[in-house]
Amino acid sequence: MADSGDEQARTAPTNTDVVIVGAGHNGLVAAAYLARYGTKVTVLERLDHIGGAAVSERPFPGVDANLSRYSYLVSLLPYAIVRDLELDIELRSRPVASYTPVLRSGKPDGLLVERRPGPRTAESFRRLTGSDREWRAWKEFYGRIERAARDAGSFLAGAGAVVLFALIVLSPLIVLAVAWIFGSRAYRRREERRLLSAA
Ligand SMILES: Cc1cc2nc3c(=O)[nH]c(=O)nc-3n(C[C@H](O)[C@H](O)[C@H](O)COP(=O)(O)OP(=O)(O)OC[C@H]3O[C@@H](n4cnc5c(N)ncnc54)[C@H](O)[C@@H]3O)c2cc1C
Repeated sequence: MADSGDEQARTAPTNTDVVIVGAGHNGLVAAAYLARYGTKVTVLERLDHIGGAAVSERPFPGVDANLSRYSYLVSLLPYAIVRDLELDIELRSRPVASYTPVLRSGKPDGLLVERRPGPRTAESFRRLTGSDREWRAWKEFYGRIERAARDAGSFLAGAGAVVLFALIVLSPLIVLAVAWIFGSRAYRRREERRLLSAA
């Protein structure tokens, strides 16, 4: 960690297979997976604490409320990681997805969106916008985003990521192979024409 002094920070770890820079949750998860497979891992963190943007703090003195700076919803943590790393955590759902404060004519108001948008969300839209038009448009948009996120999520968490990675790695080889096949065919045809015209 950074506060361990310049001299120590400059000392490169020697007994290690992999060095991970940054002890945010991605760095820690990667390190945990690697360690489980017997790899010697060193994680470097510039701050005096680990966790990156997923660290919670009590920003209001005297108020017993823990706020996370960014990963406040833990919404992107796949259950497969919880299972693989045998994490002892319980994730709980909450009824409210978001509440966006709004000032209207100097008076505080807000848009409430439930996790499963229903009558309270509709009523909140109606009160703020004066009709159901925005609510319907938002519901349609939200539905599309949800479907896209579900498809992308299952694709990236499953074999899709491997296929995508393989395609990225293999695509130059595929292009070369196709170019070679078509190039050699064209060459053969040119040669045949040349021999025929010479004969
Ligand atoms: C506004 C906002 C809202 C978000 N809301 C959510 C949410 O609700 N739910 C959710 O799941 N995700 C949310 N995210 C995304 C989430 O915060 C990030 O995806 C996540 O923190 C990325 O983790 P990480 O480990 O890659 O990086 P970070 O958490 O950023 O950690 C990086 C670590 O590397 C360290 N570091 C950096 N440079 C060096 C260096 N040179 N040497 C040593 N250490 C270094 C840093 O100090 C830090 O500890 C949000 C992000 C933002 C910006």
